[in-house]
Amino acid sequence: MRTLTTDYIVIGAGAMGMAFTDALIDHADVHVTIVDRRHAPSGHWVDAYPFVRLHQASLFYGVASTMLGTGAIQQHGPEAGLQERAGMSEIRAYYDNIMERRFVASGKVTFLSGSEYRADGAANVVTSRVSGEQVQVDVRRRVVDAAYIAPTIPATLPPPFDVAQDARVIAVGELAAIAEGASSYVIVGSGKTATDAIVWLLGNGVVSERIVWVRPRDPWMLNRAVVQPDPAVFVGLGADTFAAAAESTTLDEMFLRLEDAGAMLRIDRNVLPTMARTPTLAVWELDLLRTIENVVRKGHIRRVDRGELVFDDGSVPIAPDALIVHCAAAGLQHPPVVPIWAQDRIRLQTIRAGFPCFNAALAGYVEATRDDDTERNRLCPPNVYPNSLTEFTRMQFRGALATATFGAEPDISTWANQCTINPSRIDPARRDEPAVKAALARVAAYRESGLKRMAEFTNERLPS
Ligand SMILES: Cc1cc2nc3c(=O)[nH]c(=O)nc-3n(C[C@H](O)[C@H](O)[C@H](O)COP(=O)(O)OP(=O)(O)OC[C@H]3O[C@@H](n4cnc5c(N)ncnc54)[C@H](O)[C@@H]3O)c2cc1C
Repeated sequence: MRTLTTDYIVIGAGAMGMAFTDALIDHADVHVTIVDRRHAPSGHWVDAYPFVRLHQASLFYGVASTMLGTGAIQQHGPEAGLQERAGMSEIRAYYDNIMERRFVASGKVTFLSGSEYRADGAANVVTSRVSGEQVQVDVRRRVVDAAYIAPTIPATLPPPFDVAQDARVIAVGELAAIAEGASSYVIVGSGKTATDAIVWLLGNGVVSERIVWVRPRDPWMLNRAVVQPDPAVFVGLGADTFAAAAESTTLDEMFLRLEDAGAMLRIDRNVLPTMARTPTLAVWELDLLRTIENVVRKGHIRRVDRGELVFDDGSVPIAPDALIVHCAAAGLQHPPVVPIWAQDRIRLQTIRAGFPCFNAALAGYVEATRDDDTERNRLCPPNVYPNSLTEFTRMQFRGALATATFGAEPDISTWANQCTINPSRIDPARRDEPAVKAALARVAAYRESGLKRMAEFTNERLPS
């Protein structure tokens, strides 16, 4: 078996592995070997549905050293006035460029693509999925699991229900390539992928009456207009969140207050959502989604037969030629939240609320600039990725405390404030703007009472 020696082995060339490596090699003189079973960097974007876009601004995504996109504001279309959002091909080209021109060309990074990583006792073994060649990678410093919270996507997972042989079921990615339409489209899923599929169908002339939406849960989604790389807007969202918590006696009330503040959106105003993964949604998309009247709320589909969807408590008839579009993969995984730095490996997770790219970059910076794992774990406590209202609130609570902890370190604060992927960044030139000052003042007014109420809602402990 061939042997390769490196300082770090990073498992996964997705957004998290790329952001971690970028910050690490910028602040430490080390060699990194990145392994991915996919043939190219970009992680799940390699297999994403072709009409996917970032749900947030491009500026918030990618690696710390290099901006994704141009930072431009959209001038045309329904989102004029909001920041540009990259589509799949732009994201892939960006990561290809980072990998080839910045990482590999520097000599600091080796990329083993199309290769499977496995730990064999204490040994790190990488096997090419193409040639079958095995390489033993001797790691001088750390093994980094950059796939710990990697998402599952419909393209790589079968639908979570049985399918009769004569039923037409496709993964969302196949939708754009169908040669023959159907009289009816059944969209299965409650998250961003399902909403994207519906918006795409409507945009391609399928009238809403031909769409059936199987929505096991109703989601709260963040209004894209308030998740923008503008400190007055983004700090304002933080203030709204603290204020809504402080003034509420239940979690539902907190979300309803956020809806009144223009921060949260729900599709049906008659239903209280129970899901809060909170991707962003634009109001023009919401308007389109609200035109779908044929919504099936009977929980998860168990089986699809030709002409019928079967649930635990009965079935729903559909057109015999209906095309069922599987948008039901779980999104980001929810493995146990564990310390990021452990003896056997580093497990990249989020730290502040949301924004996986910034969190992975922060972990890379802290790995490079601190030499004690206890201190690293103190600065970067792991956060949850939310699914429910309680978890969303827990994520906000933990994220606020973590941001205060790492932000109290002068060097981290300076570094983070230069990263465009840091959503809380405040350009020094804008700090004295009245709107920014007003948002910061509102955060100061509500932070303590908001955190106290969030702790009560989630059984978290406030630091003494
Ligand atoms: C449709 C969609 C849209 C999204 N939009 C946004 C957005 O707008 N903004 C945002 O912040 N987040 C967004 N997210 C979430 C975000 O993209 C993800 O958090 C992030 O890209 C995940 O990156 P990752 O590196 O954790 O996982 P992945 O992208 O899945 O990368 C992990 C990689 O690890 C590899 N791997 C795993 N195990 C092994 C092994 N044993 N050997 C070799 N390789 C291995 C996999 O092949 C994979 O390529 C979106 C997610 C989805 C699904």
